[in-house]
Amino acid sequence: MNTEDFRPEKEIKVFYPPQRVLMGPGPSDTHPRVLNAMARPTLGHLDPVFTEMMEEIKGLMRYAFQTKNRMTFPVSGPGSVGMEMCFVNMIEPGDKVIVCSNGVFGGRMIENVERHGGVAVAVMDKWGEPVDPQKVEDALKKNPDTKIIAFVHAETSTGASSDAKTLCELAHKYDCMTIVDTVTSLGGTPIKVDEWGIDAIYSGSQKCLSCPPGLSPVSFSDRVTELVKNRKTKVHSWFMDISLLLNYWGSAARTYHHTAPTNALYALHESLLMLAEEGLEHSWARHRNNYEALKDGFAALGMSYVVAEQYRLPQLNSVFVPAGVDEKEVRRRLLAEYSLEIGAGLGDFAGKVWRFGLMGTSSRIDKVIFCLNALETILSDMGLEVERGAAAAAAHKSYAANPML
Ligand SMILES: *Cc1c(COP(=O)(O)O)cnc(C)c1O
Repeated sequence: MNTEDFRPEKEIKVFYPPQRVLMGPGPSDTHPRVLNAMARPTLGHLDPVFTEMMEEIKGLMRYAFQTKNRMTFPVSGPGSVGMEMCFVNMIEPGDKVIVCSNGVFGGRMIENVERHGGVAVAVMDKWGEPVDPQKVEDALKKNPDTKIIAFVHAETSTGASSDAKTLCELAHKYDCMTIVDTVTSLGGTPIKVDEWGIDAIYSGSQKCLSCPPGLSPVSFSDRVTELVKNRKTKVHSWFMDISLLLNYWGSAARTYHHTAPTNALYALHESLLMLAEEGLEHSWARHRNNYEALKDGFAALGMSYVVAEQYRLPQLNSVFVPAGVDEKEVRRRLLAEYSLEIGAGLGDFAGKVWRFGLMGTSSRIDKVIFCLNALETILSDMGLEVERGAAAAAAHKSYAANPML
């Protein structure tokens, strides 16, 4: 039998993506150095040159997470796989987990606990507010058999930051382990895994690390290794079982587990190297500095934030859409006319809120000014009364008042 001819409905050509400016909730812009790293020759995943680079990635990740944890490596999969990996390894049927939920990602954690046979005790806070440690302590007193506390450090759906240090202290006080989502915080705001005593932590490559999506940096304390070793039941996922994965990422012998995404790992290596070159403190200060300028620009446009000032994430700015403005049309025009992507609101915030990301490479003065000017032009064009040039002027004033280190 002959093969069928290939007759696509429309002609297929080489795919050239347009050059965007990504200022939404992730992915952020990938730095040219990182894109370039991905285009280098593919190596075998057991090639000694490659495995040497894997060790460097682990070292760079320990710096980014501020930890000495031996078990620190990138999972082949997006942040959601990092999340699932923590839950699937640490939960056995019947285990009680307190999950703090103040946005989309806390909700997903509850789903994870239940799918792995655990019992989730939800501690709910309003969207846009941080996790309330008092509510967590009340739940701990009511549920003394709790094994794990899970929370999101930086809620990307709202832009609220929770006090990870205090929540970890609470966990220790009640002899619980912790699972912490730092997908949006890593590289953007302080994380100190060892100092805060975090047991399991996961992140993502495409937010403040400005690497393409698809990898999830994770780190586990020795307590987690012990816990997994002493499980009564097998981990319900072959791919994510950390004890099996360690034969590839953890031991010098390195046996095949799965084919590591080599070129994607070159990119992560490059972005972590850039973070180390810049220095964590400087990166955190840069994210804050650009937030201050964007914030002052928004104020000049009469726009207000969803989150109270002291809980705001500098890398994720949720602001209310001005009254009477068609928010979808603004986003459409930003993309069509300026090739600029921003984020829409999720859940209760859909249609009411925009999310502006200032993550990694997207956290830069030129992008802040570009974004404010574009937004101001469109809003003015759509009939909103704004003083032309005021937003960028306010941002410039902020930069002058807060020079970088
Ligand atoms: C983006 C994000 C995730 C999920 O990461 P993916 O790479 O999209 O799977 C999880 N948690 C938070 C807080 C996030 O912002």
